[in-house]
Amino acid sequence: MEVTKMKAHEIHEMLKKGDIGVRELTEVFLDRIEKIDDKIKAYITVNREKALEQADRVDAGIRKEENTDVLAGIPMALKDNICTKDINTTCSSKMLHNYKPPYNATVVEKLEEKGAVMLGKLNLDEFAMGSSTENSWFFTTRNPWDLERVPGGSSGGSAAAVAAGEAVYSLGSDTGGSIRQPAAFCGVVGLKPTYGRVSRNGLVAFASSLDQIGPITKDVKDCALVFQAITGFDPKDTTSVNTPVPDYEKILDDNIKGLRIGIPKEYFREGISSEVKDRIREAIDVLERLGAICEETSLPHTEYALPAYYIISTAEAGSNLARFDGVRYGYRNMDAEDLISMYSTTRSEGFGPEVKRRIILGTYALSSGNYDTYYLKALKVRTLIKQDFDRAWEEFDVLVTPTTPTTAFKMGEKTKDPVSMYVSDLLTVPANMAGIPAITVPCGLIDGLPVGMQIMAKPFAEDVLLKTAYAYECHRGFEITAPELEVN
Ligand code: GLN
Repeated sequence: MEVTKMKAHEIHEMLKKGDIGVRELTEVFLDRIEKIDDKIKAYITVNREKALEQADRVDAGIRKEENTDVLAGIPMALKDNICTKDINTTCSSKMLHNYKPPYNATVVEKLEEKGAVMLGKLNLDEFAMGSSTENSWFFTTRNPWDLERVPGGSSGGSAAAVAAGEAVYSLGSDTGGSIRQPAAFCGVVGLKPTYGRVSRNGLVAFASSLDQIGPITKDVKDCALVFQAITGFDPKDTTSVNTPVPDYEKILDDNIKGLRIGIPKEYFREGISSEVKDRIREAIDVLERLGAICEETSLPHTEYALPAYYIISTAEAGSNLARFDGVRYGYRNMDAEDLISMYSTTRSEGFGPEVKRRIILGTYALSSGNYDTYYLKALKVRTLIKQDFDRAWEEFDVLVTPTTPTTAFKMGEKTKDPVSMYVSDLLTVPANMAGIPAITVPCGLIDGLPVGMQIMAKPFAEDVLLKTAYAYECHRGFEITAPELEVN
């Protein structure tokens, strides 16, 4: 099999046996990027030189058996809102189009320590605001399953690159669904960890109380391995939680006998495609055959999650993005005659329309007179949503739902109506509001497009999520691989 189709744990075996070297492996991926990325458009920056240097260093370590880590020498890529020292970190924004951070994000440090080879930086919706990568200042990424369709967003580049074999795995960030929705649209696995599980140090903040970094991979085992590598306490992130980290690979087996699965009826309402619901029900049948006990349940405040999310996330975004004023980071309008007009021209030229819309919404929600009506109300709704989940954990180990209401939509289909775009986060946003972990795993196709099943669990129960997803993946009875692109 071609290495670009293989999983990290499979490539690791080849590297160990000496069937391939890290440099050769890295070159295969760089060549593939060169060959197909003008079709997919996943990469904003390709890190050719440095990746090859890194590869040579890791090669030496593997040969001397100094580095036996399973991620050593595996080529991967990062969403372009994760800071990389001296390498452009643009957030897909004109504002940061030439910004080179002076430091690495903690997750980057952790992966580098393991010997990961970083191929480049991946496209996203500007500042991670969006569901299709159409809000990128650079270009829209294409879905490898159908180039006329979006890969989802905001981590669209991260999901498309993995699905198209342009990286073995990638990291994305998830504030309201930005790992899970694109992973579902591209037929790959995506995990949003518990809030506080993975360090946010070096992730450019969108909504700080919701953001988490997580892996996008070809299968559940790789997801466990990458998650293991990036997780853990970090004193540089004040919201990082210091709890023991289990050995996630060890807990991966397919025995889920007696697992209690809740099926929240609010996630199967009108507006969710009936074919998507069919695929999820088939997946639930597989879990039942494995001995899980499935029962319908209710999370009554679900319908308020999306409106509350768009108040809380925009309020936080408005304040986080205030730092981009032309003084310290990135773009500055050089023609302005005084300070105030420098601020305002820089910000009106540096940000795209969706980012401006969010800043305006967020500022409105926080302004005096509106604060109680909108922001405080939204925080109360957030508590109600969390309580819904708390009650569910008394009865169930996991909750199973669709990841998205539909499969990948066509480019341009939702760009004129922001609310229709926001609705693609309907089923992913509640997990962020409650801070709980959630994974998406491919569970079938509709008209040749992948569908994702979402599994949610209580805080810090990523082990249960991974185990459930793994058991399903082992027994679903089919592989999901994006069709090979025709390249001339
Ligand atoms: N699509 C959602 C939004 O636009 C979620 C984004 C994200 O998770 N970063 O806000």
